[in-house]
Amino acid sequence: MKQYIALDEWSIVEETFDPGNNQVSESLFSIGNGHMGQRANFEEAYSGRSLQGSYMAGVYYPDKTRVGWWKNGYPEYFAKVLNATNWIGLDLRFGEEQLDLARCTVKEFRRELNMRSGYLQRTFVTELPGGRQVRVEATRFVSIVRPEVGAIRYAVTPLNFSGQLQLSLYLDGDVKNEDANYDEKFWDETTRENTAQGALLTVRTRKLDFHVCSAMAYDILQRGQKVSVPADLTSRDKYVAHTLHLPVEQGQTTIAYKYVANVTSRDHAADDLQTVSRRVLAAAQAQGFESLLAEQAQAWAQKWQESDIVIEGDVAAQQAIRFCIFQLNQTYTGQDERLNIGPKGFTGEKYGGSTYWDTEAYCLPFYLSTAEQHIPRNLLLYRYKHLEKARENARKLGFTKGALYPMVTMNGEECHNEWEITFEEIHRNGAIAHAIYDYVEYTGDAAYLAEYGLEVLVEISRFWEERVHFIAAKGYVMLGVTGPNEYENNVNNNWYTNRMAAWTLEYTLEVLDRVRTTDPGRCRDLERKLRLQESEIARWRDIMARMYYPYDAERQVFLQQDGYLDKELIPAGDLDPKHRPLNQHWSWDRILRSCFLKQADVLQGLYFLGDRYDLATKKRNFDFYEPMTVHESSLSPCVHSILACELGYREKAYELYLRTSRLDLDSYNHDTQDGLHITSMGGTWMSVVKGFGGLRVRHGRLVLNPLLPDHWRSFSFKVMFRGARLRVSVGKGRLNVVNETDTGFELTVCDHDYRVAGKETLTIPLS
Ligand code: BGC
Repeated sequence: MKQYIALDEWSIVEETFDPGNNQVSESLFSIGNGHMGQRANFEEAYSGRSLQGSYMAGVYYPDKTRVGWWKNGYPEYFAKVLNATNWIGLDLRFGEEQLDLARCTVKEFRRELNMRSGYLQRTFVTELPGGRQVRVEATRFVSIVRPEVGAIRYAVTPLNFSGQLQLSLYLDGDVKNEDANYDEKFWDETTRENTAQGALLTVRTRKLDFHVCSAMAYDILQRGQKVSVPADLTSRDKYVAHTLHLPVEQGQTTIAYKYVANVTSRDHAADDLQTVSRRVLAAAQAQGFESLLAEQAQAWAQKWQESDIVIEGDVAAQQAIRFCIFQLNQTYTGQDERLNIGPKGFTGEKYGGSTYWDTEAYCLPFYLSTAEQHIPRNLLLYRYKHLEKARENARKLGFTKGALYPMVTMNGEECHNEWEITFEEIHRNGAIAHAIYDYVEYTGDAAYLAEYGLEVLVEISRFWEERVHFIAAKGYVMLGVTGPNEYENNVNNNWYTNRMAAWTLEYTLEVLDRVRTTDPGRCRDLERKLRLQESEIARWRDIMARMYYPYDAERQVFLQQDGYLDKELIPAGDLDPKHRPLNQHWSWDRILRSCFLKQADVLQGLYFLGDRYDLATKKRNFDFYEPMTVHESSLSPCVHSILACELGYREKAYELYLRTSRLDLDSYNHDTQDGLHITSMGGTWMSVVKGFGGLRVRHGRLVLNPLLPDHWRSFSFKVMFRGARLRVSVGKGRLNVVNETDTGFELTVCDHDYRVAGKETLTIPLS
């Protein structure tokens, strides 16, 4: 664990420069706006270790699969999120010397990610090898108001000399991914323009033909006045630069404002990109940096108005939850249903920027509660639009009907090539079905079912139907799967997978009945389109009734899979700390044979289907599995923290909350340098709102069962619920619910029912 981030309620702050932490900081201080993301790479040259990352949402590369032995059904490619044109670049030279913090003495250094207003600022004082001292203040952001705009204010002050500054502002499309199967570059240039008026570069991917056009303009200020200096123009393949020679005086600040428009062929016709980028750029430059920044601050204030969580009495927890909310809002804005949320968002290459079950299981609740309804709906539509590909995927694997959604995808096709993930982790189908349930329960938007949801549910149910088979000794069984706990492979009868399969069948039939009543015409059309047979429905009922669930009667716990009890059962607390994390110290074989769980598995099911199990059942299973869980998936602590709250395990809940919420800030898993764990941040939000807040929705009522951690004076969160906008605050012995809207709703708090009419504040004593 690395702790070097200063505690602050609204900012992420680093106060010294340690090159050893730089790649972790590059992840932590990332900025994004749903359309693009940028790691906290320095604007100026840096020859130290760095992971360069400028990413454009939805722009990816299908990197051909590389495996020794090809197996039928392998995906052709693993999608890669692309490191795109470096648009932040500036190069500074004083005489012969280049400003490069890896080669200079850093005397002062401060980096701040201002989450309240949505910008990154870095200030430093450095001494170049020849003794020149320079102070720099660099501020940048990507606009959430104008998603195609990025802007930088770079202020340079010579501290002990006067002379010449050679400043180059550039766009560099000659970049590569660290993660490339064949070590090739992914971009070719299509257009390049470089004139005294500005520079523009369009590159396109070597496969799939994504075009990205970046255009830059700049203003230079000295003594508070705009100065106009002729630029030397450099132009070569995938690179354009303007170099300025500026006289600088000791103590006088020169400011370079760099404006960039990054537009892609996903949003505009490829032929129009140059025109669009020039237009977007001109508008940004005309508005000016300070005004764009003010606009940004205002837009972020609005986001916080909708989604903030306030924790009093615990700065570490406060900073951590705001960091998670900030990163989630930076990653997905929900305006484009073709986009989704990669496990690392826009903060690194790992996981390829692709969509996993993480979205449905861990991120959807955040957007359901804090964003306008069309935003979580777009997350569902993403899967609806991939239904045809999910059908194809099932056929490819030999199924005669139904749909198997991919475990990892960019466009609906499976693009992960590890056997146990691609072929075995079929539980993702269950999470996708459950997300439909979650969305409809929360929003009450039953029309979604007739329009889209039912079709997805029927196709998923058909997959389960074909994936199970009946044996007299047990009932319906499902062999050769990997459950959510990836520290087991190819197991038979994973309780969670079997349970979610049966639940999907049950929910599908419930929805079918509902749509038959509410929208009979549409239902008939759909049944015709899907050629739904009564015989299928009968079989689903039989599977639901006779699904096999491994169970230990002695301990009265569900068994993660057949044979789990043959393992040597050891608490994770007995492991030698030197062996943790196991995935970095043990062979895969040893991990698979052990009892240790990477993440919630049976408990994931008890969380999803929480209303169907009583507390005693949850307690027995929690007490059995949690002690053997090593939480080596970032997705693990949050679900356990929520269940611990429900069970009244205050200390455990808090310990796991800190672990999920500060996972990246304190680099718990030693991997933050690869990027942030964005999807687990959705889980962190859930652990406050669903865990400590105890928020659920039951039969159209909002339910709260709060638990205030001992370390906190109070906490409050914002949620939207069926048109009402609420602030829920939990203090010692009381709960306040403020309805900021005229919309009323039904509420249950600790088993007492209330009706909140329009705008009002409800204060409820808590025992
Ligand atoms: C977890 C999966 C998850 C993936 C992406 C893995 O480590 O085990 O459940 O989908 O990461 O976050």
